[in-house]
This record gives sequence, structure tokens and C-alpha cells, in this order.
Amino acid sequence: MCGMTAKKLSSKDYDFINDDHLLGMLLRQRPDAVRIREIIAKSLAKEPLTVEETAALVMTEQPELVEEIFAAARHLKQQVYGNRIVLFAPLYIGNNCVNDCTYCSFKRSNKEMQRRTLTPHEVREQVVALENKGHKRLILVFGEDRRYDPRFIADTVRAVYATRSGRGEIRRVNINAAPLDHEGYATIKEAGIGTYQIFQETYHHRTYAQVHPANTRKGDYLYRLHGLSRAFEAGLDDVGLGVLFGLYDWRFEVLGLVSHALHLQHHYGVGPHTISFPRLRPAHGVEVDPRHLVDDFDFKRIIAILRLAVPYAGLILTARENPEVRRALMAFGVSQIDAGSRIELGGYTEVGDAQVMEREQFCLGDIRSLDEVMAELMEDGYLPSFCTSCYRSGRTGEHFMEFSIPGFIKEFCTPNALLTLQEYLEDYASPGTRTVGEALVAQELGKLEDGDFKKTLCGRLADIRKKKSRDSYF
Ligand code: SAM
Ligand code: SF4
Repeated sequence: MCGMTAKKLSSKDYDFINDDHLLGMLLRQRPDAVRIREIIAKSLAKEPLTVEETAALVMTEQPELVEEIFAAARHLKQQVYGNRIVLFAPLYIGNNCVNDCTYCSFKRSNKEMQRRTLTPHEVREQVVALENKGHKRLILVFGEDRRYDPRFIADTVRAVYATRSGRGEIRRVNINAAPLDHEGYATIKEAGIGTYQIFQETYHHRTYAQVHPANTRKGDYLYRLHGLSRAFEAGLDDVGLGVLFGLYDWRFEVLGLVSHALHLQHHYGVGPHTISFPRLRPAHGVEVDPRHLVDDFDFKRIIAILRLAVPYAGLILTARENPEVRRALMAFGVSQIDAGSRIELGGYTEVGDAQVMEREQFCLGDIRSLDEVMAELMEDGYLPSFCTSCYRSGRTGEHFMEFSIPGFIKEFCTPNALLTLQEYLEDYASPGTRTVGEALVAQELGKLEDGDFKKTLCGRLADIRKKKSRDSYF
């Protein structure tokens, strides 16, 4: 009954999601070409959109205007962020859970789920396996359970950073776990985390109550809604929002996300660093209600509209989606993807190519190796990046930096992407991927102006090739 105890929400502890207001706003929209083009122009000028403006995009159905929204999202992504895609992998630490979320196989009522929490030794084994594939950035994922308290999470983060294998190391650890209190976030901050992600799952109150039983911790809508506000108040400066699309009408959920982003921006001076938009997947012991499932076309609309509405945030497209969908949707504003992912506990060392449903949270759509994903990205003209330079240089919010500081991408992001790619090519790539990668590095270098900076970069790339240096960044 934890949801009923007097929990501290945040200093701005009011419910800023009014369902009737948002639904009314959607119904009121009569988007016409002039208004949609004005809104698109605002976004292309790099200004975040209001909830009302987002509602107009969401309610746009005329095929030619929807195409204009797609084109604008592509353009914004290309103009602002360029062709880089940041790569990471999820690492599931424990699947015990006190909650009973109807959509998740880790729910406590799923008695067939094989429960497990990785020991420190097992965590190190998983990290070694990930490092040996070339990963540098991880997100640690936890169920909600007394044993996954802030100290445990912080100790796990430290263990990950301390694990080295050959030339491998993890340079940035993000977290996806339950919302904490202020003290909890402060404890985790000390371990040096990147982004703390909490997905509201659904912003629609009635649906939230239906899928998160009231007698569970997660049943407390407001405590979760204020989870990231408390994180800011406790000193974290990098947070990620998300919705589990498929629980309620996607149009409403997009307005919920934008309202949340504006709330954070207004009260804490910083918006979300990332936005995630997982789609509901089949899962062991879960019966999916099909009413609000999002098809591929509407999913593309969601990504494009989020790109335009919150132009400074990084957008994360996960391996829940199959390779074809990922490939097709990448261009509409995605900045980060996971690759080579396994979500079974111990999955990076213990399971083969098949997925084991009784051991994982949901079924993944893309289980290709990191190397295969790297090759495809580069063949499609993307520049894969493992860069962690902003975080390690004390520059908060890497995507925000790229977005807001003129010249930042040229000076930092592209060179750092090239340095981390070169490391990958030397240390981990298959021969085929290496060939594609070397051509891409040469092509990207060709785009840079000659001068001292390019000379320095070429020198550093040569040092990586000669195995004289690693982990060099601007
Ligand atoms: N237990 C923590 C929580 O609920 O916040 C950590 C996150 S949970 C392990 C990771 C995320 O997976 C959830 O926030 C939810 O959005 C997503 N998820 C759960 N079940 C899913 C399903 N069947 N398909 C796709 N995503 C799912
Ligand atoms: Fe537990 Fe999170 Fe799954 Fe809910 S979504 S059952 S809280 S692991």
C-alpha cells in the first residue's frame, strides 16, 4: 500500500495533466494548410511547440499535410543533428518486481517468470561480454523491488564503470528504474550516472489506473509524474521521458509528453534530455488489449511530431521494433538506438540466438548483432557514434548542446563520432564492417575544411589505427 503513504512529490507538486483539457484540445482542432505550415516553420526555427500547436499536428489527417510534417521532421533532423546516430545497449540487472503492470511480464502475478537478480560477478560478466562487442554506453534496467534500492543501483553503476576487458570500457551508464525520493537520486548521482529515465507509460489517468493496480507502488500516478522533477531537485541534470504506446490513444499521449517536457522546462529551466516511445510488444503472461495499438504509419507520425514539437530532445528508437521498421523510421528524427540487445537476465552470455520468453520482459523485434547494425547504418549513410564526451567533460545534455550551440556539431560531435567509430573499427569490427567504416571515415573527413583542426583530428585517428591511443575526445 505504499502508494497511500505520505510521499513527497516535488516542490511543484500539482497535477499538470488535465485529461479533459487535453482531449478537448484535440477535438477543437481544425488544422488547415496555413496553420500547419506556420507551426512547421516555428519548429524549423528551432522553437519548441506549445501543446496546442502539437495538437494541430496530431490531428492533421490530409495526406499532403502529413507528408509535409514528415518532410519537416526529416529536414530538422538533418539540419540540426546531421547523420550521427548514438548507439547503446540495455543491461537488465534484476526482474523482481512488486508491481503488477498488466502489460509487463515482470509483474508480480506472473508466477512463471524466472526471477533473478544478477550478482556483482554476473554483472561484470555481462559487462565484459558487452565491452567485447564494442559497446561504450549502457542503460541499466531494474524492476521495482526493495532490494533495488538507491545504494544497490549506485553500487551496480560503480561496478559497471570499474569493469574493463582488453581495450573495452563502459563510459556512460544511464538508468531506467522506478521513481525515487530526493535522497535516492542524490545517492545515485554520486555514482556518476548519465540519464535517469522514467516512462509515465500513459498520461491518461483512467487508463493509468486500469493498468497499474491501486495497491501497488506504481499505482500512484502523481508520484511517478513527479519522479523526474524530484530528480532535478536532487541535483540530477539529465532525465528521459517516455510513453508506452498502445495503452491509450497515441494522440493524447503525444500531448502528455509535450506537456511534461514544457513543465520541466518551465520549472527547472531544462527539458528532457531524451524521449522514448516504446510500442507495446507481446510478452509472456500478458494479454494485449488491441484497441490502442499503434500501426507503423501512425508510429512514424508520432516520431515526426515529437521531433518537431520538442526539437532539442534526443529521440530513442529501441530494438522492440523490427529491423525494417527501424531502418525506415530512423530518418524522421531518431538520435539514439540500441543494438546487439538482449533483455533476458544474463542474456549476453547465457542464451544463444533465440529469445527465451520466460526470462525476458517482452519480445524484441531486432536481435541483430551490434556489428550488423553498424554496417547497415553506415551503408545507409549514418555515422554511428559511441561518443560520451559531453557527459565526461561536464557538459550536460549532449543532445541539447548539439541543438543549441551553433557550430557544436562540427567542433565536437562529428569528430568525436569519428574517433569512437575508428576505435570500433580497429578493435571490434568484422572485416566487412571495417571496409564500409573506413570508407565512411574517409568520406566524412573529406567534408571537413582543411586546417589545424582537421590535422589534429587526422593525427588522432592515425594514433588509434596504430593502437597508440584510445578514448581520445574533443
Ligand atoms: N520497472 C521500472 C519501471 O517500470 O519504471 C523500470 C522500467 S521497465 C523494466 C522498462 C520499460 O519497459 C517500462 O517503463 C515500459 O514502458 C516498458 N515495457 C514494459 N512492458 C512492455 C511490453 N510488453 N512491451 C514493450 N515495452 C514494455
Ligand atoms: Fe515492474 Fe516496471 Fe514491469 Fe511494471 S513495467 S511490472 S514496474 S518491471
